[in-house]
Amino acid sequence: MAIFLLFAILLSTSNCVSFASSVSDEEVSRSRQACKLAREYLAGTTVNSSSLEGYVDPRSSLYSDRVEAYWSSNCWQNASCIVSPASTEELAEMMSIIASTNATFSVRGGGHNFNRNFSSVGPNGIILDMTRFTNISLAADKRLVTVGVGNRWGTVYNYLDGTGVSVNGGRSPNPSVGGQTLGGGIGWLTNLVGVTAASVVAAEVVLADSSVIQADEEHNRELLWALKGGGPNYGIVTSFTYKTIPIDKVWFATRWYSAEQNRALLHALFDYEMTSTRDSKANIVYQLSEETGAPQSFVGFLYLDPVEWPSIFSPFYNITHAATMINSTTGTLSDLASNYYAPQYPEPGIPPSRDYVVSLPHKLDEATYNDSYATFTKYAKQAADLGWHMNYGSQPISKLAVHESSNTPLNLTNVEQDWVHVTLQWELAEDDSTAIKMLQELGKEILAAATRHGSHLRYRFANDAYSEQDALSSYGEGNLRKLISISRKYDPAGVFQRQQNGGWLIDRAQRN
Ligand SMILES: Cc1cc2nc3c(=O)[nH]c(=O)nc-3n(C[C@H](O)[C@H](O)[C@H](O)COP(=O)(O)OP(=O)(O)OC[C@H]3O[C@@H](n4cnc5c(N)ncnc54)[C@H](O)[C@@H]3O)c2cc1C
Repeated sequence: MAIFLLFAILLSTSNCVSFASSVSDEEVSRSRQACKLAREYLAGTTVNSSSLEGYVDPRSSLYSDRVEAYWSSNCWQNASCIVSPASTEELAEMMSIIASTNATFSVRGGGHNFNRNFSSVGPNGIILDMTRFTNISLAADKRLVTVGVGNRWGTVYNYLDGTGVSVNGGRSPNPSVGGQTLGGGIGWLTNLVGVTAASVVAAEVVLADSSVIQADEEHNRELLWALKGGGPNYGIVTSFTYKTIPIDKVWFATRWYSAEQNRALLHALFDYEMTSTRDSKANIVYQLSEETGAPQSFVGFLYLDPVEWPSIFSPFYNITHAATMINSTTGTLSDLASNYYAPQYPEPGIPPSRDYVVSLPHKLDEATYNDSYATFTKYAKQAADLGWHMNYGSQPISKLAVHESSNTPLNLTNVEQDWVHVTLQWELAEDDSTAIKMLQELGKEILAAATRHGSHLRYRFANDAYSEQDALSSYGEGNLRKLISISRKYDPAGVFQRQQNGGWLIDRAQRN
């Protein structure tokens, strides 16, 4: 459970609104027709057509495994079929089938977004699963790496291990390259080079009309910009090409603390943030928990040079820790990712949890932290009484990171900031509405505190936000308008808006 909870801290959202079973017969028949055509096509073109590796429907023994291939169990829904194309050509054919049948669909990368309906779909739809896009290639001069979107970040770090370069992917090894990048993305190197998407220099995209295009500085430049955090509104990305960062050995260590240390950890966080912004090699992962059993508050320290216990983290060093999860280690980012092992999906023995997360970025301000923590404590106790788990996570973002992210649509305010998020995990579907309400109320109170103290920020981190948080609108009116016009240009028929089941869709943004 400890490891399971640890990975709740690195993360994001969940909008577990119950699936409204307003599926019309016509929708079901459209999706059945799309599945039939997809199956026929794959049976005719796959090398081993009898296995139909890329196609699963309710008749298949693999069906439940594929339906349940999500981080959060609130995303489990019985799709009409799940298609996993193995090539850009197969994906383009699937797009053609979907557009011609008018079927509802979802695109699934690593299934790590917590928002129900973002990458899942009910019996009225088809899932396009991208997990077979697993190519990775490092350019001969090592400056760029092209990564298939179905890769998990852990695989990418392993591939680059020993090359002397790495990439600013996700911190957890398990979210997919595609979904994590399309939401902007925080990585281990964010305070050095900006969000994950800021390092993207090219993408291959399958459009709604089945054409395959390249987006880079010379071709479809505005599309490249939109893909750096602008969600799934333009086409399906098959690969991203990233600038690499020369990096070899780094230092890291992680410690668990009991809840009694939370106040001290909060002070240490603020002290650390006041100085760390001058050192872009420093990075922490930080979680507070009010649970009184096994210690669940946690700080992970990472320094991007092989310097043991660097003084930048000294505000934390005198706080008594209860246990060490990773001892002081000098290694590569691949070593770090392996040590941060997390289950792909809930593991046997660990009840699958339903997850919900709220994104609460604010400027660095001690009074806001204090009020937020008081609010968190109040709700965390209520959650614990119900047997649920609530965590408060800090994600410091420096002004340098803001500057380096200026080639994305995120439109970040040029101040030192913290993309705070609070996560809630529970087990039973019948508790969904109570749990969701609890986290939404907490979010409102923390945002009110930020407003009171003048530290409020408009931005909501798409990878951490629940769907009503309207991440795309938080990029500002001007950028939202640009994203809308780019989406209209590349998908004039509006297939991604009308037929896609969910996600950060521009037609659902409030445009306030
Ligand atoms: C344990 C854990 C740790 C995490 N750690 C981090 C972290 O360190 N940094 C960070 O930034 N985020 C982190 N996240 C958040 C995560 O990056 C987001 O939830 C992200 O959306 C997951 O991407 P995915 O492809 O795995 O999920 P999915 O649910 O499969 O996809 C997310 C969204 O992207 C769309 N999508 C996926 N692939 C494509 C594609 N190829 N083309 C078009 N649309 C696509 C989907 O349709 C969906 O709308 C973490 C989440 C978890 C659960």
